[in-house]
Amino acid sequence: MVGKLFGTTGIRGTANDFLTPEFCSNIAYVFGNYVREKFNAKNVLVGMDPRTSSDMIKHAVISGLLSAGCDVYDSGITPVPSIQYAVKEKIYKFDVGIMITGSHIPIDRNGLKFFMPNGNEVYGKIEEEIEELYFSGKFKRVLWNEIGKIYTADAGKIYKEMLLKEGVKVDKENGLKIVVDTGHGAQSKIMPFVLRELGHKVITLNAQMDGFFPGRPSEPDKKNLENLIKVVNALNADLGMAFDGDGDRSIFVDDKGEYIMGDMIGATIADHLMKEGDFVVTGISTSAIIDYVAEKHKGKVIRTKVGAADVVGAIMENNAIFGFEENGGSIFPKINLGREGGLTAVKILKILHDKKKKLSEIIAEYPKFYQIKEKIQCRDELKNKLTLAIKEKIKESKESKYKNTKIDETDGIKILFSDGWILFRPSWTEPIYRIFAEGKSESRTAELIEFGRKIANEALKGLIC
Ligand code: MG
Repeated sequence: MVGKLFGTTGIRGTANDFLTPEFCSNIAYVFGNYVREKFNAKNVLVGMDPRTSSDMIKHAVISGLLSAGCDVYDSGITPVPSIQYAVKEKIYKFDVGIMITGSHIPIDRNGLKFFMPNGNEVYGKIEEEIEELYFSGKFKRVLWNEIGKIYTADAGKIYKEMLLKEGVKVDKENGLKIVVDTGHGAQSKIMPFVLRELGHKVITLNAQMDGFFPGRPSEPDKKNLENLIKVVNALNADLGMAFDGDGDRSIFVDDKGEYIMGDMIGATIADHLMKEGDFVVTGISTSAIIDYVAEKHKGKVIRTKVGAADVVGAIMENNAIFGFEENGGSIFPKINLGREGGLTAVKILKILHDKKKKLSEIIAEYPKFYQIKEKIQCRDELKNKLTLAIKEKIKESKESKYKNTKIDETDGIKILFSDGWILFRPSWTEPIYRIFAEGKSESRTAELIEFGRKIANEALKGLIC
């Protein structure tokens, strides 16, 4: 077993600490060398988010790639899905891609994502092979006359054209009033313009790209979108939408100023796309609302580990029509093999247009599920032990109040009750352990999370003592 570099998604760490120019150059070299041998790939499309460290990391990455004999197409600041789309479509012969992005994580950190020739993120066995090559330290740099060249590219332009093609253009009188919070991220240069070109009236928030994120943190969760909710209410807007820093996730606020869970948006789109017998893929932590939708279409829900690459892997294995994550990342495999913040927004607008309804009216048509998400502090080295200890505690509890439950161990431990579930899952990007609960009523959900919290704390106590 060699060292581990990849987490749930790509390689992440503190800029200029773990992610030094030396490390970034070397890992880019390893990737470049790997894709040349494995896929006969030479042309690497490179993009970045607007973080303060992204420029430094990008230049190190480019040097590493050139030293492996790859040619680099530098796209500057651009959303992640634009890189994946341009690679998948083979426009201008981009073979593979690298994105420098910290996505939604704290501002002092950053990360690297690597994309294969089909546009999907590197995952599983390929991650291990890249790690093995990196830790072997056997770097065979190319000769002076084989060093690669740098060109400029505009993945954002290609992406924008796709979004306009997939969207519905409306007349001025049918245009919606939309408040768009791009969170100082890469979608600032794409989405407001796409929405205007589709005929909508657009009001922007935090639309200047800025690695200090002065307006709000990059994670589009409810507490970070208070301003968006206020502006939607104050302007009596039809819709609010927000993106994370690298633009692969989008979250929506309805015409009543309600924050809509990512699960609900995913289920709404699935309902729109699914035909009888279709498969849809989502992570273990997603709401049971998708089971309701799939049942309606006599289809099937496939649940995977949490992480976009796992969801995409299962989409391809099962020829699924659609996939999504509860955090607002939806995947439309016919168009792009990665999470698609922009395409999700365009598709939601299409659904509103087709149904001639407001988002609040569409959401009200579905049964309501209640969720509570909590986390406890837990060091990485304790996480696997904690999972085992929780399992033991559940076995003990099953003897009394929690009989006849099913356990799913796809990722962490999920206890399935007839009227809800609890998920215990270690995070591999932060020193925390997550506890989620879902029920059909507020009181049942509170009861479930209390039970989950109690079990996790007791199990953790046993490990520390
Ligand atoms: Mg992201």
